Amino acid sequence: MEERYSRQVLFSPIGESGQEKLQHAHAFVLGCGALGSAIAETLVRAGIGRLTIADRDYVEPSNLQRQQLFTEEDAVRGVPKVVAAKARLLAIRSDASIETILDHVDGDVLERAARDADILLDATDNFEARLLLNDFAWKHGIPWVYGACVGSTSTVFPFIPGRTPCFRCLLPALPSVNETCDTAGVIAPAVQITAANQSAEALKWLTGNEQAMRTKLLHADIWYNTQVEAGISRLKKETCATCGGEPSYPSLHAETGTQYAVLCGRDTVQIIPDAERRLTGEDVRRVAERLGTMGKHNAYFTEFTADGYRCVGFSNGRLLVHGLKDMQKGRKIYHQLFG
Ligand SMILES: [Zn+2]
Repeated sequence: MEERYSRQVLFSPIGESGQEKLQHAHAFVLGCGALGSAIAETLVRAGIGRLTIADRDYVEPSNLQRQQLFTEEDAVRGVPKVVAAKARLLAIRSDASIETILDHVDGDVLERAARDADILLDATDNFEARLLLNDFAWKHGIPWVYGACVGSTSTVFPFIPGRTPCFRCLLPALPSVNETCDTAGVIAPAVQITAANQSAEALKWLTGNEQAMRTKLLHADIWYNTQVEAGISRLKKETCATCGGEPSYPSLHAETGTQYAVLCGRDTVQIIPDAERRLTGEDVRRVAERLGTMGKHNAYFTEFTADGYRCVGFSNGRLLVHGLKDMQKGRKIYHQLFG
């Protein structure tokens, strides 16, 4: 066994056999912000066989306080998070196998990239993405580890098909969603404790230590020094659309046509063009040139200003309109730009 993993192998629940299992495992991390950065670094350092990270965003200065894989230069250059993360992870461990997805993740993307994953890690900031991960996990019998942090609080639970209730069953019982990192802020230790708990659950599962996994939902506050563990097995609903007797996995069935969404907790409207339109980065660049407001421009995206709003168009035609919460207004700007 390699010297670099010697301290982990000495830890008896893992040992050589656990390390061997880990080195043949594939983990899929949805989101590469604060949680995703921390989880990815931990798993790569631990010797994970293969890691896939998916994220649609790029590095901004306000990320640097807690998103541990990114540097000032990444923020100045506006590097996509998965691109910056991969470069840093390969500097940490040159033989790591890391796949990246720079896109909005839907059911089709998960089918392509996570079908053979041994575990799924939630590093998202919104309920829609978690419902998607939850449906996908149950459909294919893959465990996923929920993690949420806002302010100084942390919530973690490993959802295991066939063993625990699912996320959809829990929704009415979870803490209110109207607080986000953008309204309540977040401190890095809350991120780290959340990511540490998620990574620990992943390591347990991937090294053959299922019996050590959490069976209760953890909710902790690292500032006010409180910790609650809640049993949730009684919350399972027999009629649940994900884990009930007749599952329909509703979140996996992506809408067709152009999709519009206000990104959770951010003043940003996202528009994903209908695939039939086949918009490209070149179309985006032409629009920016036409407006005469082109900002940053690279192989991944073009930044420009439209109607007073900062816009970022990606190479697959996906558009972000920043400084905007009104979906109808976003729709209007999009139609003004792309017809
Ligand atoms: Zn359920």
